[in-house]
This record gives sequence, structure tokens and C-alpha cells, in this order.
Amino acid sequence: MELNLEEALEAPVAVSYRLEVPTGRLERPELLVLEPVAFTGMLQKADPGFVLTGTFSVAGEIACSRCLAPVAFSGTTDVSWLFAPAHRRPTEEETELTTSDLDVVWYDEFVVPFDPLVEEQLLLELPMKPLCRPDCRGLCPRCGADRNSVPCDCREEGDERLAKLKSLLA
Ligand SMILES: [Zn+2]
Ligand SMILES: [Zn+2]
Repeated sequence: MELNLEEALEAPVAVSYRLEVPTGRLERPELLVLEPVAFTGMLQKADPGFVLTGTFSVAGEIACSRCLAPVAFSGTTDVSWLFAPAHRRPTEEETELTTSDLDVVWYDEFVVPFDPLVEEQLLLELPMKPLCRPDCRGLCPRCGADRNSVPCDCREEGDERLAKLKSLLA
């Protein structure tokens, strides 16, 4: 979709948008299922430019970072984008003087592609270290067994040495 900023010149306009993002495009192989991303908000005139504020919703399934089991996730975030005309863009020197790190989308024309902004926001919303449960025991690094469900006989190296030491001291 494209945002037509011009539509908000006279009065604020409601923006409602759903985007299906193929999981393969995001370079996050742990992402298993992604529901269509949804945004609802309001585009209005600002000075200079325009501001789009609203809520951003994501949901899906992602692999547990320890045992790879699917973990459902969902989230809703308040987001805002500021669109400012490119000719108002500060020069590098000016940028150094301002401390604001507000995300600004600079536009040359009133029609701005929205999908890239949605995908960028989506990446921020994905859980970084998802866990199926807080105390997930993960996969055994030796035999690959899921230690949450299968007790395996492998021992950590440290454990073995400690056991030997204990037997010597006994
Ligand atoms: Zn897990
Ligand atoms: Zn094992």
C-alpha cells in the first residue's frame, strides 16, 4: 500500500491496513507462523509534514530459543511516524547539533510506500529470545534430546569431573 499524504491536507484521515508478510522475507528463520500484520491509525497534518499515529498488532508463532518448540506470541504497540518534506532535511552539520533521534521519513512526493515501514516495525515487534516457558531446559547439546520431556543420560563435562573428585574424596 501507499500512503497518500495529500489526503490529510484538509482534515485527518483514518488509516486501516493489513499486510501479509511472507515469513521467508524477514531473515528470521525461527519465525514459524505470522498472522497478517495490522495497523489502524490516523494521518494528520503537522508542521512541517504529516504525522501518522496508531496501533500496530502482530501475532504468530516463533521457535523457543532453547528447545525450538513453537511459542505463540502477540503484541500491540502504539507507533507513530513523522513524515517531513525532503527539502527540510537538515544537512549533516545541522544533524550533529540536534540531539533528537526521532524517526523521520523524508518524502519528495506526497505518495509514500507504506509496506517498508510496516515491515521495519514488524521486525522490532518480534520477540528476541522467545522461551516456551521461563525455565525451559532446552535441548541436550550432546544427544539433542528435549530435556523438558526426555531425561537423557548425558552429563555435562563439569559434572563428570566433579563426580570423580567426589568419589576420590569419599
Ligand atoms: Zn523451550
Ligand atoms: Zn543428552
